[in-house]
Amino acid sequence: MPSIKYCWIFITDRCQLDCDYCFFSSKTRRQDLSLAQAKQLLSILPKGSKTEFVISGGEPLLRWDFVKTLVRDIKKIRPKSSIVLQSNMLLLTDEKMRFLRRHNISLEPGIDGNPESTARHRKGTSAQNYRLICKNIKKALRLGIEVFPTMTVHPQETRYMARNFGFLSSLGVSRIDVHPAFLAPWDAASAKDFIDNYRHLAALSCARKRVLCPCYSRPMSYGHDLVVLPQGDVLANWTFMAFPKAIRDRFFILKLGADGAAYNEAVYQGLLAHYRALFKNRTVSYREFSNYSAALAMRLWKRARPKAGFRRYRDICRAVKNIDKTFLMTPRHAK
Ligand code: SF4
Repeated sequence: MPSIKYCWIFITDRCQLDCDYCFFSSKTRRQDLSLAQAKQLLSILPKGSKTEFVISGGEPLLRWDFVKTLVRDIKKIRPKSSIVLQSNMLLLTDEKMRFLRRHNISLEPGIDGNPESTARHRKGTSAQNYRLICKNIKKALRLGIEVFPTMTVHPQETRYMARNFGFLSSLGVSRIDVHPAFLAPWDAASAKDFIDNYRHLAALSCARKRVLCPCYSRPMSYGHDLVVLPQGDVLANWTFMAFPKAIRDRFFILKLGADGAAYNEAVYQGLLAHYRALFKNRTVSYREFSNYSAALAMRLWKRARPKAGFRRYRDICRAVKNIDKTFLMTPRHAK
């Protein structure tokens, strides 16, 4: 049986920001998942599987009451599951932080480094917003909430990686995932620059026990994600979300309704056949699984430029895996 690695629940596609590398493409900015659909999802999750829940959007804090209900429901059926809330942090308040702390929810804030790097690609991050994001990160840390940003690096920003990483570390976060922007226009020079800078950060992290996180290079068991979109459609991996709607719609494995869930049997069985072949006789990291899924969608997408950028992106991911293995996944650093 395939295991479920991450269960991403995109509770809304509304967001106050407009990041140029947001992988949730074709947002309508008015769609919300219903409670009935969320309950359907929780009822069909395979019993006993170790799933990590990610509550996301859009901006999930735009639906705080829904977040609270969802967290309580997840904790009721899976008391030991880990839950991460992805947020741009703008609507975080003391009361919300106390709730997150009480339920042991980690925070994954959207921040890419210093104000210039963050504002350049996260459109809508004014100076005032940026100060608020940093203030809320520090406050959450003081309250004992685990906070780990994903520092997304755009091809034009590779030269600032060390500076941005240093800035985020100085906020006191426990770990940072440094990730190349997906479907961005990577070329040979920017890919090389990313890899060189990443190696430098990994060596630093290894020597000083700083916080670069190799989580997506770790092996995963045969399986896939459940990625629930606000309209109730479910995908097997997050990368499908980044493609134009016409491509993305060919990968739905499930549709959640108010009264039940309908499997898209042909698509699901087709995907499982691909994933079985991928996992057969080899160790697969989560990044490799995601890139394999993206390659399936890429085959249907006839656009030449993203394809070239995607090839470079995969080169970067391969290099990152080797660097993580060398510097961060030794027994000394194993979590
Ligand atoms: S804050 Fe998140 S959901 Fe909103 S546009 Fe940026 S990446 Fe997308």
